[in-house]
Amino acid sequence: LKNDQLDQWDRDNFFHPSTHLAQHARGDSPSRVIKTANGVHIEDRDGNQLLDAFAGLYCVNVGYGRQDIAEAIAAQAKELAYYHSYVGHGTEASITLSKMILDRAPSNMSKVYFGLGGSDANETNVKLIWYYNNILGRHEKKKIISRWRGYHGSGLVTGSLTGLELFHKKFDLPLAQVVHTEAPYYFRRDDLSQTEEQFVAHCVAELEALIEREGADTIAAFIGEPVLGTGGIVPPPAGYWAAIQAVLKKHDILLVADEVVTGFGRLGTMFGSDHYGIEADIITIAKGLTSAYAPLSGSIVSDKVWKVLEQGTDENGPIGHGWTYSAHPIGAAAGVANLKLIDELDLVTNAGEVGAYLNKTMTEALGSHPNVGDIRGEGMLCAVEFVKDKDSRTFFDAADKIGPQISATLLAQDKVIARAMPQGDILGFAPPFCLTKAEADTVVAATAAAVKTVLG
Ligand code: PLP
Repeated sequence: LKNDQLDQWDRDNFFHPSTHLAQHARGDSPSRVIKTANGVHIEDRDGNQLLDAFAGLYCVNVGYGRQDIAEAIAAQAKELAYYHSYVGHGTEASITLSKMILDRAPSNMSKVYFGLGGSDANETNVKLIWYYNNILGRHEKKKIISRWRGYHGSGLVTGSLTGLELFHKKFDLPLAQVVHTEAPYYFRRDDLSQTEEQFVAHCVAELEALIEREGADTIAAFIGEPVLGTGGIVPPPAGYWAAIQAVLKKHDILLVADEVVTGFGRLGTMFGSDHYGIEADIITIAKGLTSAYAPLSGSIVSDKVWKVLEQGTDENGPIGHGWTYSAHPIGAAAGVANLKLIDELDLVTNAGEVGAYLNKTMTEALGSHPNVGDIRGEGMLCAVEFVKDKDSRTFFDAADKIGPQISATLLAQDKVIARAMPQGDILGFAPPFCLTKAEADTVVAATAAAVKTVLG
């Protein structure tokens, strides 16, 4: 097929996620057809090689073109492409993967339920939490607390948990069972005189006030990403997670760690929970579980939650929750091969080391630019936030579209992909874990050049 034919069919037939639908259908925004990929590079049908410093959507963690995973998928498809996992049925791949996940998860974790993507896994989590409280007779304890700027998916419950306006407006969200609290976003604190410690105390006070207002008896759980991702790539200030967990424990509120981005190594530790000392009751996993070679997600539940679920089904019969494709054999085969590869190549260590190098060199290159307000990151995550005026921390108007302009310039000038995060002028980087220091240098030099073009 010719490129212009594909372009026409794309506009005529396909409506894309997270896309300005009218502009795309009119042809105002370019269609790019991706053909192949290897390592940290993707290639389009015109032969353009692009350095993908966002690993797709922070998911191709082991890098593109891994033949071991492709072969494991092919072998599974030939042997058994599908059988369901209802009523105790399993496959060697799904059972092996459940063991591999539990071997890597924090020690209080007990069992994994498989889904397809991060959104459905968080949907499962909310249902499990409600089921758990119903079994315990706590029928009013159902609300879920999430943070502004958290990202947990775009379904009805998960879009409600997501604390970004774009995911609510015109969809009549959030649902009433979801309430939001302050994000641990020190750079954007209202009171610039606050130290990090004072800001953590402020986040805790906001959470306490929300619990008091709603009533602890109505609140079932708190969900958070160890490092806020789509909301701006924001590592929490020191002491944040310990302080939040103390409040949750006091009010008997479950904690869900959404590790869709941080799970399986992105912070330089196997889980973000290990990195921050988070003792979750449920952990959400997706993206890095298969490095996106096939769709697969999971809800890992702790001993504490499992004991209640188990007891509940003894009394009430089978749990009424299941997806046709839960534990799909092809996804599971991809997961097994992916986790083996992460171990063999020691990619978690590389994510920590090269990620630290990327953050350091980005800070050296751009830290003193008058329009760079903040450079932050953890492991293989990095963000550069732009401001109109640094001293007064004045932000650009949304209409200036500085973040999108810089990411478009970066792509046009040097063929590097970074993501303009959806809220604020923030350029995000989340490269594959196999990024080398030389490739990190390319990303930093290209970013500095794009910033110079747009902002001087
Ligand atoms: N949770 C987090 C932290 C995410 O970053 C995402 C997606 O980016 C999701 C959940 C939703 O995952 P999915 O897009 O696979 O449904």
